[in-house]
Amino acid sequence: MDLWVPDSQLDRADPQRTDPDWVRRIWSDDAVVLGIDARGDVAVTPDGTALDWRPASGEFVVERQFLLGLVDGVPHFAAALDELPRATSLREIGPTLDDTSLDLVTTAIALVNWHAVAPFCGVCGGPTQVRAGGTVRYCPRCERERFPRMDPAVIVAVLDDDGRLFLGHHVGWPQNRVSILAGFVSAGESLEQAVRREVAEESGLTLGEVRYVGSQPWPFPRSLMLGFVARATSVDAQVDGEEIEWGDFYSIDEVEQRVADGRLALPMPLSIASTMISSWRRGELDVAAPRRPDAL
Ligand SMILES: [Zn+2]
Repeated sequence: MDLWVPDSQLDRADPQRTDPDWVRRIWSDDAVVLGIDARGDVAVTPDGTALDWRPASGEFVVERQFLLGLVDGVPHFAAALDELPRATSLREIGPTLDDTSLDLVTTAIALVNWHAVAPFCGVCGGPTQVRAGGTVRYCPRCERERFPRMDPAVIVAVLDDDGRLFLGHHVGWPQNRVSILAGFVSAGESLEQAVRREVAEESGLTLGEVRYVGSQPWPFPRSLMLGFVARATSVDAQVDGEEIEWGDFYSIDEVEQRVADGRLALPMPLSIASTMISSWRRGELDVAAPRRPDAL
């Protein structure tokens, strides 16, 4: 099972988008455009419940208008704007969107965030040019292409031998909010190393078997979340107190009771943490590979 937008109909038009004339042409070909503001928030309709896609108008501006792709043949663009009359965070509107819309919005925010910090070449400092409808920046001086950056981060559902899940409370989070453990991959580190290091640092737990379950883009501003499930070799957690304030292993029943009476609050629906915790609550997330090929 794909964790993220398995039913998306977005065609990123990778072969066609390398032709700048084609990109320019489809801008004036019934294209629609979605504004993203300087904070990475997305344009919404006056009632705030839907994305505010507008017909593309005016001249195509390669530096501020980025091709997301085609949906049923209709070109969809993002526009980087300083301000929007009505904008909201992907965190807020995301849970209401279908897979195709989620794919489009996440791509739009990721591209706008990247272009905002990538106008100059990281090697020679010279100005770079947008290519391929916004998925490439080119440095004429170095004659090199640059691609959108993402920061890989691992997120880990740590289980004990009884299938209980470790949930930790992050310093600074609202009271009772808990989640599974996560952290950025360090330079020169594999994902599996990052999983073991982050879990050890934050919880003091050591891990036995580790299994990859899926990934999700998280453009706040540019993370790629890589989800793992792992077995702890003991239940003697020692949280670090700096990132994780408190944490413990919980059975499914204990989580249900504590969520019902407000003692625990779980992550928001859009996040990979929420998807993984929900899968565990249904009894479908374990370190052993799933028997059903479509299970998480
Ligand atoms: Zn350069």
